[in-house]
Amino acid sequence: MRISIPHIPPDILAASASNPPLLSTLTVAAQRVADFLDSGNVAVLTGAGVSVDSGIRAYRGKDGRYMNPNYKPIFYSDLVEDSPRGFSFRQRYWCRSYLGYPPIAKARPNPTHYALSAFMHSGHISRLVTQNVDGLHHKARPSYWTDKYAASKILELHGTLHTVHCRRGHLTRRDLFQNKLSIANPRWKAFMDEVEVSGQRLRTNPDGDVELENASWDDFVIPDCEDCSKEGTPDPVLKPSVIFFGESVPAVVKERSFEHVEACDRLLIIGTTTATYSAFRLLKHAIELRKPVMLLNVGPTRADSLIGKGVEKVEWHSGEVLHTAARAMLGPRISEDRELQRLLTSGIVTPIDGTFDDHAPRAGS
Ligand SMILES: [Zn+2]
Repeated sequence: MRISIPHIPPDILAASASNPPLLSTLTVAAQRVADFLDSGNVAVLTGAGVSVDSGIRAYRGKDGRYMNPNYKPIFYSDLVEDSPRGFSFRQRYWCRSYLGYPPIAKARPNPTHYALSAFMHSGHISRLVTQNVDGLHHKARPSYWTDKYAASKILELHGTLHTVHCRRGHLTRRDLFQNKLSIANPRWKAFMDEVEVSGQRLRTNPDGDVELENASWDDFVIPDCEDCSKEGTPDPVLKPSVIFFGESVPAVVKERSFEHVEACDRLLIIGTTTATYSAFRLLKHAIELRKPVMLLNVGPTRADSLIGKGVEKVEWHSGEVLHTAARAMLGPRISEDRELQRLLTSGIVTPIDGTFDDHAPRAGS
């Protein structure tokens, strides 16, 4: 398999830098989105941009480029390698992920998540596919949706951070695994507590790990899978249930994502550059099926060259535009429907704290 870090073609980035935003007023932008949603049966595809208002940093800035030019993802093959080298990668991953998980676990849905839920409740949006692994769409779902029902409507294309599994597929809830990591790593637990007490926040990536420069995680202990140990065949290779770079989306998930596009009449893509191929191919699939596609994203996307060829783009903040569209479309229904009212008045914006604290434990300290 060819492994590459997804990127947006340089010519699109250059063109975007010189183009003005596509729409000039919120009212015009919201009307375009409302017109798109009005006939119903819309599928939505979301990306990291949707979670930024929940305080979760996106990998790319508004210009579509990586915010950290030195960004080096961990590849799947490194993470699961059964060797001292693989062990070292897992120590690095789990140490950073141990520190990065609490802010993701505590993150709350923002107005965009709730507006999308309101449109699912009103029947305009029928399915949602997300590239995000933070679980925030589930947290913002209509109150009467069971877990099972939510799972049939919301597909996590790249998995979730909220479970962990071994190579034999034993699943553990992430909060339970996090407790085990705390017990096994008192020095790191103390560091995490210290950061929390000081009110500082580590620089967390959307995949739930933090950036630690020059820190040493050689002492980080990763517990074996408990179920495998009980069966007498210990497995030390645990990973969160997210798709890593170089790892394929499972066939069943890929199939379901295509089904979601096939079952809808239109596709609305929000807060993503669609640089990742698993997202871009859904857009391509919609175009092949001649389904109208709308991009709601600030900044360039990989699909910008398709604007006017079955794709339209609204360059505006998603929370604002979706709420304005909801008020225009749902009007009197909002005061009559308590669930709709609840969803459209929920969600807070959590600013991203730029402070990068790096007094992590060092080797020998
Ligand atoms: Zn196991």
